[in-house]
Amino acid sequence: MEKEDVVLRVDDLQKRFGGLVATDHASFAVERGTITGLIGPNGAGKSTIFNLISGFYEPDGGRVEVNGIDVTGREPYEIADAGLIRTFQTPRKLEGMTVREAMLVGPRKQPGESFVKLFTDPEGVAAAESANLAEAQRILEEFEIDHLATQPATDISGGQMKLVELARAMLADPEILLLDEPVAGVNPTLRNDLAEQIRRLNEQGTTFCIIEHDMEFVMKLADPVVVLNQGNVLMEGPPDAVQTDERVIDAYLGG
Ligand code: ADP
Ligand code: MG
Repeated sequence: MEKEDVVLRVDDLQKRFGGLVATDHASFAVERGTITGLIGPNGAGKSTIFNLISGFYEPDGGRVEVNGIDVTGREPYEIADAGLIRTFQTPRKLEGMTVREAMLVGPRKQPGESFVKLFTDPEGVAAAESANLAEAQRILEEFEIDHLATQPATDISGGQMKLVELARAMLADPEILLLDEPVAGVNPTLRNDLAEQIRRLNEQGTTFCIIEHDMEFVMKLADPVVVLNQGNVLMEGPPDAVQTDERVIDAYLGG
């Protein structure tokens, strides 16, 4: 039998904070080409799992694989280099930066970051930086937000900021992109824009794993949907099956 094409595999992952079990033997996989939803009540452990996957937290047990490679316990930049990029539930502070500059604070290692390289290969660094700038411009145009490029990043709306975050993540050329609540606090128009952009990027080959509280948004966009409850995977399936599942309804009602 042919092996399924899995971009991300989470196997028996565990994380405790003191006496609190935030991730309790969680296992799931994200198949290449999908938009996989990750839902669950508040405190279910969704953001913690993203932090474990992307190297921001160290797991107490279990394994994370990206493209079949074990990346458990690796540094965030190493995992980004393996092709996995994530956004944050709360956008980072971007004081004093324009939108264009914010775009260039990339999650992958920047060429200028190697201090030695600045002295041994300054032209190479300059060329790479101007290529990045051109690519940032291209992506801003694709997202139809290039008119924001010179605005202070702190002056744009929360919804526009979410679009910039998504555009910025694309600059790292991810194979799989993890989005933590991409439409939280976003107005309906921008929400549709974000859904459209995610669909477009998915059609162009990016795999997505999306945490989202807005059920309507997830159910329209994602398939399959993985349901997390108390740090554990409660069920997984197509949106229709998940929405009508008794265990899922109970988990949400039970808080
Ligand atoms: P979700 O994103 O599903 O709302 P989280 O992953 O943020 O849930 O949180 C799961 C549980 O872990 C919560 O009880 C939360 O308080 C706890 N938690 C998350 N991060 C930390 C941390 N850094 N230190 C202590 N407890 C944490
Ligand atoms: Mg969260």
